[in-house]
Amino acid sequence: MARRFIVSDTDIKYLDENNIIIQGKEVKHIQVLRHNIDDEIIVNNGIYKIKEMKRESISLEYINKAEELGVPNSNLTLFVALLKNDKLDFVVQKAVELGVKNIVPFVSNNVIVKLDDKNRQKRVEKLNKIALEACKQCGRTDYVEVEDIIQFAKLKDKLKEKNRVLFAYECSKDSLKNELKEIKECNILDVGIIIGAEGGFTSKEADELKEIENVRCVSLGERILRAETAALSLISVVMYEMEEEL
Ligand code: SAH
Repeated sequence: MARRFIVSDTDIKYLDENNIIIQGKEVKHIQVLRHNIDDEIIVNNGIYKIKEMKRESISLEYINKAEELGVPNSNLTLFVALLKNDKLDFVVQKAVELGVKNIVPFVSNNVIVKLDDKNRQKRVEKLNKIALEACKQCGRTDYVEVEDIIQFAKLKDKLKEKNRVLFAYECSKDSLKNELKEIKECNILDVGIIIGAEGGFTSKEADELKEIENVRCVSLGERILRAETAALSLISVVMYEMEEEL
């Protein structure tokens, strides 16, 4: 099979329906791998033939749609608090492997990490890089986006876009089993999960989340889990219910 390269949309110039020019990091990569004119390569989701190679750019002609691999049928969004650096890096990498479709980091009252605008942007870029590497490593041919870091107020709005949201709350007495059963039985495939910061949510924040119509508060058991453990265990069980082949 032709080799796959992931090129972000900002590095693609669309000439017409069938022809594109790519630039950026993957151009070097393609050259290092000694690809040449007329070779077929996969760029994102398409098979292309190399038409012209320059130092900084490569012209490509579209041949066909590339086969999709490892792409989940479900649409699981992870809303995760801005955890400390290495913790969030870890969660992003593992969430991609487990089949999350997109990731939205947020800032709530107990988030310790403080970022100004410039550093926020850098952080999101780094997280996207980790997500991309994880996609490649685990053989997913889609791309998991880590969205911009949002504030709690905005999070509440965004949650409403999902069909169902499971809010992992250590003070909850509500059973996760019942919620999973409903997701399975009603074939709900557009799900979000919320994982709080190391210090959790304030009770006011928790109350506000619980009030949102499509949000269900769930317990992950009597033990208090670290945010990373909570994220991975909840992703795993929700994916298990939503994906046919598991
Ligand atoms: N507020 C707590 C711990 C927060 S744990 C404290 O400081 O003691 C971090 C996050 O993991 C929580 O916000 C929650 O989303 C999730 N979490 C951890 N244990 C959980 C449990 N038993 N049930 C549901 N969610 C849990």
